Amino acid sequence: MIPFNIPGITGKEHEYIQDALQKRKLSGDGEYTGLCNKWFENKFDATKVLLTTSCTHALEMAAILAEIGPGDEVIMPSYTFVSSANAFVMRGAKIVFVDIRPDTMNIDENLIEAAITSKTRAIVPVHYAGVSCEMNKIMTLANKYNLVVIEDAAQGVMSKYNDKYLGTIGHIGCYSFHETKNYNCGEGGAIVLNDAKFVERAEIIREKGTDRSRFIRGQVDKYTWVDIGSSYLPSELNAAFLYAQLEHADKINDNRLRSWSQYYTELIPLEKKGSISIPIIPDACKHNAHMFYIKVSDLKERTELLSFMKENGALAIFHYIPLHSAKAGKVFSHFYGEDNYTTSESERLLRLPLYYNIQVHEIKKITDLIYTFFNRR
Ligand SMILES: *Cc1c(COP(=O)(O)O)cnc(C)c1O
Repeated sequence: MIPFNIPGITGKEHEYIQDALQKRKLSGDGEYTGLCNKWFENKFDATKVLLTTSCTHALEMAAILAEIGPGDEVIMPSYTFVSSANAFVMRGAKIVFVDIRPDTMNIDENLIEAAITSKTRAIVPVHYAGVSCEMNKIMTLANKYNLVVIEDAAQGVMSKYNDKYLGTIGHIGCYSFHETKNYNCGEGGAIVLNDAKFVERAEIIREKGTDRSRFIRGQVDKYTWVDIGSSYLPSELNAAFLYAQLEHADKINDNRLRSWSQYYTELIPLEKKGSISIPIIPDACKHNAHMFYIKVSDLKERTELLSFMKENGALAIFHYIPLHSAKAGKVFSHFYGEDNYTTSESERLLRLPLYYNIQVHEIKKITDLIYTFFNRR
């Protein structure tokens, strides 16, 4: 069976974990956490990057930093992972969903302005499949209405929009290093602070609401409770694992892009015949091959294709159930405007196996299966 995902290992993960063990420094903010933070700051030209325990936690920190409170409204797509919404619901916000664009599955930037009210505080663009949202338009709206933009770039590490790395364009960016993402450490994430005014409070929130970071730098002689916060810093073992991945970030990116291109090239004829749709990458976007998906006619055909592939040795999957139609979504959110694409496009989409070092013959086997399925129809 070709699995849907295998978390990649590039070589030095064991060595760096061993090194962290030998240094007897296992809790957060040791040498490896610092190396990871600096790696991002240098490569992505970011003001400040702090590793976190997950992207979910980075989003929770972002919601606190944006001072989201009860009654505030936050605009995002409904076609996303639950954490994009929950981080703001936990602060008492109401989530306002707008429809997606069918080409990228990203929030439709042209529908956002109509959904803005006097209660709107933030916009959360989710860069689906590592392909950027239309950030120029979104940042223009944010400036006009004085809103905070928090990029959910969980899937977008190493992707670019007009030569800027995703996560560094909005006021705050959030990354995931979950084992299903391009660069992983099992469970992990990072918060990207693109406005220096957030840095001091972010350090405090991440350290349980204390000024321990300043204490460690020798800026205060003791540390105490100064704000709300939680335990958002990862163990050094996770950071050591992640640093090995970051050192090979370009190699991982190239490897995934090659696999993505193979899927793309092999499936073009089937797309030309009108059997499936394949991803569309807008000109301004340089993606990171986080995901290769196809879209079929409808839910019934998707269900049949998924089981056909499984019976024949390849695990494809689908996601997401739009958040506004889920049980909690009915309580915490509402969908502004028409749902022209969110539900219908989500029911057509399926994700094909794509991971570091997936083999050429494995991708060929998967695309052959897809051709067999459609030739029989
Ligand atoms: C994976 C993902 C998350 C959550 O990441 P974790 O690190 O698992 O918390 C959030 N948003 C999106 C869009 C994701 O794909």
